[in-house]
Amino acid sequence: MTVQPNSMEARDKAYHMHSYTNARALERDGALVMERGEGIYVYDNNGKKYIEGMSGLWSVAVGFGENRLVEAATRQMSKLPYYHTFTSRANGPSIELAEKLVQMAPVPMSKAFFTNSGSEANDTAIKMIWYRSNAMGKPEKKKIISRIKGYHGVTAVSASLTGLPNNHRSFDLPLPGIFHTSCPHYRAFKLEGESEAAFVERCAKELEDLILREGPETVAAFIGEPVMGAGGVIVPPAGYWPAIQAILKKYDILFIADEVICGFGRTGNMFGTQTFDLQPDFMTLSKQISSSYQPISALLINENVYAPIADESAKIGTFGHGVTAAGHPVAAAVALENIAIIEERDLVGNVRALAPKFQSRLKELEGHPLAIEARGIGLIGALELAPREGFATGQLGPKLFSIMVEKGLISRAIGDSLALCPPLIINESQLDVLFDTFEASLDVLKKQLD
Ligand code: PLP
Repeated sequence: MTVQPNSMEARDKAYHMHSYTNARALERDGALVMERGEGIYVYDNNGKKYIEGMSGLWSVAVGFGENRLVEAATRQMSKLPYYHTFTSRANGPSIELAEKLVQMAPVPMSKAFFTNSGSEANDTAIKMIWYRSNAMGKPEKKKIISRIKGYHGVTAVSASLTGLPNNHRSFDLPLPGIFHTSCPHYRAFKLEGESEAAFVERCAKELEDLILREGPETVAAFIGEPVMGAGGVIVPPAGYWPAIQAILKKYDILFIADEVICGFGRTGNMFGTQTFDLQPDFMTLSKQISSSYQPISALLINENVYAPIADESAKIGTFGHGVTAAGHPVAAAVALENIAIIEERDLVGNVRALAPKFQSRLKELEGHPLAIEARGIGLIGALELAPREGFATGQLGPKLFSIMVEKGLISRAIGDSLALCPPLIINESQLDVLFDTFEASLDVLKKQLD
């Protein structure tokens, strides 16, 4: 891309350091600047149209340009643009949203606690766990188990939970006391000749071995995404979650379901917890809670978690944790309206109706000479490219991504896997265009490589 002097791209390069970006590459190449969005489409500042095949960052469930969310924000802005929730203060939308989320929860939950991002929600969950263990007179019960390739955010604690090398490298993470057990990606991690059932058994055993090695009385909680997202869209094999949950129960270990991607319909149920029959003590929610029109996240906690924390706060005089914008009334009002849209338009029903087509078109791409595996559930999936001589792991994915962008489709390269997670409002003909473009891009890459 040629960057014109004083263009948005040039000013971006001059003044803006980006998240998750190679800063020197950005200085050289400039950014892709988006200007507006409508439905499943976004338009860049040159007027080029793209299918947003990733819903932004797995998040814009109701699509772009949804006026009901704009109006909900405007109404709340005029009435009470901000009020906090510290020191026994409250505001209407945060109360309504807390009630709504607790009532929507597919397992018994007692309270909602608000934060601004998925990272903060997970960070808060761990702080609550430490606080609770102290409250219960078990100060040794503090260790947390996460998984290789799990993604839980980027704050010091949540980045430690994340099981991806780039979130640790040069950051001096993970923090002590946070461990990573096996990733349930059968194709990638199975031993030679190992059946899926034997693989599941091994994953469970590796978790149990880790708990026993560390001492069960020192392990407080396990965190996992029902379906791993940023680790490459990894749907666990049948039997995985029952086996893992049985071990957590056996050793009295709390379970945090990170629903930041799966929550609000993505897997064909309102929550991934339903799709995989989970019994979490915590659910962390963000992204599709407001379709990312406003930054907001929430933790749902059950009574077993809440009661000791509440007692400890009474003993100390406060629960000394919370952020300025927790329960922000505008963000909460937008989240409420967004959830109302998801329910009224039965977007979960739309996921169920379109999932067979989405998954079968993705599976067809597995037959492409460049591909090795298609995986997914509901309206989330990924196609992994086969390793190729002359290319290091993680080199081909970005190449295909660039071809797709050229053709007007935004996906996400996770190593050599290309992820898809379109807005939940997508329709059948739009899905066809999305997959036609994906396929044509694969053909272009193949020509370039042959
Ligand atoms: N948890 C999961 C499963 C995520 O996918 C993400 C972000 O992609 C996070 C947590 C972190 O959320 P945030 O980027 O809002 O901090």
